[in-house]
Amino acid sequence: MRRPLVAGNWKMNGSRAANAALLAELELRVKPQWPIDIAVFPPFVYLAEARRALEDGPIAVGAQDVCAEASGAFTGEVSAAMLQDIGCRAALVGHSERRHWYHEDDALVARKFAAALSVGLMPVLCLGETLDERESGKTEAVVGRQLDAVLALNGIERFVTAVIAYEPVWAIGTGRTASPDQAQAVHAFIRRRIAEQNANIGGQLRILYGGSVKAGNAADLFAMPDVDGGLVGGASLSADEFYEICAAAAARH
Ligand code: PEP
Repeated sequence: MRRPLVAGNWKMNGSRAANAALLAELELRVKPQWPIDIAVFPPFVYLAEARRALEDGPIAVGAQDVCAEASGAFTGEVSAAMLQDIGCRAALVGHSERRHWYHEDDALVARKFAAALSVGLMPVLCLGETLDERESGKTEAVVGRQLDAVLALNGIERFVTAVIAYEPVWAIGTGRTASPDQAQAVHAFIRRRIAEQNANIGGQLRILYGGSVKAGNAADLFAMPDVDGGLVGGASLSADEFYEICAAAAARH
């Protein structure tokens, strides 16, 4: 049985005061005995403080991005080793906002995936098609291409400790959620693609859905057989919403 994961991507939001309040409220409410993993992904500057606030409680801390290079003359970048050094456990790679605004291509995303794994961080590999791509019937071609680039550089065995997040670009921050059936279809496609190379890894891989997940739609999405939790943006900034989403994941099993 795959253990659900609920990951909160705060994007470029927050402040020391707001983060402290949000994390304190979550710590108070989430149940350590829930059979799920929970992680928050604050902006870089707040990672160490978030880590300290959460100590060794049930909520892990991850970064929203990671540099593909190990160290050196890369001004403004943050390496995987630095993230690991301050207690981060995971890093998003290939979020659609990184692909769109910062022109990160499949090859760079594949290198970031490798960089995260090289120090034991769990990469959360984000895949997803735009509305144009969906409407022209290219969803599987796009998601397959994004996935294949990471598989080609890293190899199937490296997916043992990875997580995939299917995030249709048209559903991120738009309030327009993929229907549970739409999400399930792409999740099943991703799992098949992985399972073609290694059936065990395909069976164990956690595939999260992301794109306007909220308290009101989480249970229906998480009820789908290949949806193993969520990557939550906007709703992760509200303790009430995020708690309810976690509770929906915990109730799944
Ligand atoms: C995200 O940031 O990955 C995301 C899915 O955002 P939202 O939940 O706001 O659509």
